[in-house]
Amino acid sequence: MDIVKTIDLLRSAVQKGRAEGKSIGFVPTMGALHKGHVSLIETAIKKCDVVVVSIFVNPTQFGPNEDLDKYPRDLEGDAKICEQAGADIIFAPDVNEMYPDKIITWVEVEGLTNNLCGKFRPGHFKGVTTVCAKLFNIVCPDTAFFGQKDVQQAIVIKRMVKDLNMPLEIKVCPTMREESGLAISSRNQYLSESEKKEAALIYAALGKCEGMVGEGVSDCSKLTDAMRGVLGKSPNINVEYISIVDIETLEDIDNITSKALVAMAVKIGATRLIDNIIVDTNK
Ligand code: AMP
Repeated sequence: MDIVKTIDLLRSAVQKGRAEGKSIGFVPTMGALHKGHVSLIETAIKKCDVVVVSIFVNPTQFGPNEDLDKYPRDLEGDAKICEQAGADIIFAPDVNEMYPDKIITWVEVEGLTNNLCGKFRPGHFKGVTTVCAKLFNIVCPDTAFFGQKDVQQAIVIKRMVKDLNMPLEIKVCPTMREESGLAISSRNQYLSESEKKEAALIYAALGKCEGMVGEGVSDCSKLTDAMRGVLGKSPNINVEYISIVDIETLEDIDNITSKALVAMAVKIGATRLIDNIIVDTNK
């Protein structure tokens, strides 16, 4: 496995594979790799001949009071995980390599970024779409792999690729969870053991919603109240949002008529955690 830090070296490494007729899979990450990332890498390996994993903590997607400085960074540990998982190339540029000049060109997806996390993290998705557009231009993958855990990100990226006719396919892979149901996340490192236990209430709340939908409840205010009730079992959980939205437009809905996305963001102490499920009244 190669670890490359410059755009030129990455381009020549990928070009070598391309010249041999190989397909290129790409897994963009911010590092601090875990089983969720590994599942994306493994899916990429099944589908593509050469798998590139990028590790870049992208400053343009962090707000001024967010955790950019304390975000976990461990290239050595990440390299071991990638090697074990069978990735071919790690692309780990520094900030200067990705943003040598003050950035004045942005890629922004409108509408889909207004609700959910977009409402609470102004500018976040603009940073995500811009860095992904740059990474797609650098790596030129056939397929890029994203996690359902960051569902709004995956939907926004899919739309960017469609609207800008980018020549790649986006694959969305299922959320990997701890035994407790807690969605695995690099930010779980910030949690104490007792906070981790409380964080399991997030998936319990989503499960409660799924169960109620299964019993025929479709009224979104009843469902969100019930989820708030579950989260209320911990005094340390502060709900940022709990939303039930249309799976395509990501706009709030009052009633679930078929499929809907149930998504939430909560804070436990200073740690912000997100999770989601898709519910279907026809199931
Ligand atoms: P991040 O490093 O947090 O930016 O995540 C990189 C990619 O891994 C994104 O596409 C995430 O959606 C995905 N990812 C993060 N956590 C998980 C998880 N628990 N299960 C599946 N994919 C995940």
